[in-house]
Amino acid sequence: TPASQIRNFCIIAHIDHGKSTLADRMLQITGVVSDRDMRAQYLDRMDIERERGITIKSQAVRMPWQTDSATGATETFALNMIDTPGHVDFTYEVSRSLAACEGAILLVDAAQGIEAQTLANLYLALENDLTIIPVLNKIDLPAADPDKFAKELADLIGGRPEDVLRVSGKTGVGVEALLDRIVGEIPAPVGDADAPARAMIFDSVYDAYRGVVTYVRMVDGRLEPRERIQMMSTRAAHDLLEIGVSSPEPTPTQGLGVGEVGYLITGVKDVRQSKVGDTVTTLRRPASEALAGYTDPKPMVFSGIYPIDGSDYAELREALDKLKLSDASLQYEPETSVALGFGFRCGFLGLLHLEIITERLSREFGLDLITTAPSVIYEVTTDTGEKVVVTNPSEYPDGRVASVAEPMVKTAILLPKDYVGTVMELCQSRRGALLGMEYFSEERVELRYRMPLGEIVFDFFDQLKSKTQGYASLDYEPDGQQEADLVKVDVLLQGDKVDAFSAIVHREKAYAYGTMMAERLRKLIPRQNFEVPIQAAIGARIIARETIRALRKDVLAKCYGGDISRKRKLLEKQKEGKKRMKMVGRVEVPQEAFIAALSGD
Ligand code: GDP
Ligand code: MG
Repeated sequence: TPASQIRNFCIIAHIDHGKSTLADRMLQITGVVSDRDMRAQYLDRMDIERERGITIKSQAVRMPWQTDSATGATETFALNMIDTPGHVDFTYEVSRSLAACEGAILLVDAAQGIEAQTLANLYLALENDLTIIPVLNKIDLPAADPDKFAKELADLIGGRPEDVLRVSGKTGVGVEALLDRIVGEIPAPVGDADAPARAMIFDSVYDAYRGVVTYVRMVDGRLEPRERIQMMSTRAAHDLLEIGVSSPEPTPTQGLGVGEVGYLITGVKDVRQSKVGDTVTTLRRPASEALAGYTDPKPMVFSGIYPIDGSDYAELREALDKLKLSDASLQYEPETSVALGFGFRCGFLGLLHLEIITERLSREFGLDLITTAPSVIYEVTTDTGEKVVVTNPSEYPDGRVASVAEPMVKTAILLPKDYVGTVMELCQSRRGALLGMEYFSEERVELRYRMPLGEIVFDFFDQLKSKTQGYASLDYEPDGQQEADLVKVDVLLQGDKVDAFSAIVHREKAYAYGTMMAERLRKLIPRQNFEVPIQAAIGARIIARETIRALRKDVLAKCYGGDISRKRKLLEKQKEGKKRMKMVGRVEVPQEAFIAALSGD
């Protein structure tokens, strides 16, 4: 297809505003998926994506679309739609997908209006100089208020309300008009057909049968089957076994030229060899300069993952290895804990990423797991001036700390104005500094705060949702490190540290954290033959204390004599329990107690 007949676009939207449904309708209307084969969220391949209704990996699909030109002749265009994940954790993937397009459909739910991720994704699209087509979706809903939100959307992007298209991804109303506007308004890709090949990798997925499938957007030149290709970041060369387009099923082609979007298969087995953001060229005639810079997405949130049954450790390692094949941003290394045994310290892009990985581990690999409280990256300077990066409280250089810096984020929260007071209170209690407040319409407000990421990973999103009846939406981006008065709180059982409960918290919250953990453990740990003190401490200073009283003799006495079968049952029960007991010093703790204490509530 000549570049003049190609349109590359993506749909950007807040989660649940109907991106996947609209994509489905486009596939159907352009005829690439027959009505018979249609199923909801056709492009969302992973089970988790379909069930939770979110798009995790972006996908590209090519659709033919015919329009009548001014002369009355019919012209056929190739529309490449690149589906982008909507969630903040995957901003990096969104921005790579956007870089592969010339235009974006800005999709907004006509009953909800603009939300935090609508804005975040719009800003990314504008940074990439994309042509924006504003669209209101779900106009079939009785609660839809397209007149109101068309104005809101027009104000936001600086257009006229009548230029905001109104569609329903569900019924298909307006979708053909939208396809026409894509052809009419989004510029055709430009590139140098005679230059050495340069293709940008915007997605890379692992497929059990085909190995790594690399999605690219051709910028210059041409790639053909059986060529030897080269990754410009590593200079590694691979044989190109297959090249093609997704339509939406993979269809081999004779090559890809300027502006085209398609996939490459090279037989590599690990997505790290085919990095999102990298530039592909040919070994025969390599390009001299790579496309716009490549930076690895960095994990922001860390957590220990442990098998509940210690004998599952090897399986957990294998499962993580497998997930890593398709998710280069997942990091892990072995870790041991007194309380939890052998496990892994894992790094994630954000909380949703953590949730998705743990859910996949339990669902796809049948593992029973416990995860420790999420932690962020602290930069500690010791009294000798040494810098230590701490992603796990157990690495904290106790007693030698001169200062600690924590990661900060800029948050944008969109909410109905009635909740402004409540949400400001919440943000202030999380050490937020107000950056600004703006009215989007009479009743919707945007609050911008600078806040420690450590406060957000701890339950912030749930609190925000529950305090606003679900009406607030949140987006955040990293904003450097900042020094703060942080301390490590340890929890001790009869003087022995229980590592899984150590946490780095702000000094003003240390007492609350210590008391909460001590109380939880007192309720969860069964009585022993001796008294067990539970303490929370900062260094050597005890800040909270609870006591598990010793078992009284007469309780034990009850177990003797009497009904023999009852006694047997009791012994059986004890044996069963013993298997899952962990020793912390002299104290026997059922593993369930640790798990319950970590899962909180
Ligand atoms: P995404 O998160 O942006 O991909 O949103 P989905 O396409 O998964 O849609 C979210 C929810 O909105 C689903 O329950 C859809 O059935 C529903 N939905 C999507 N488009 C429409 C529409 O045009 N009309 C109505 N009534 N519901 C829609
Ligand atoms: Mg979706």
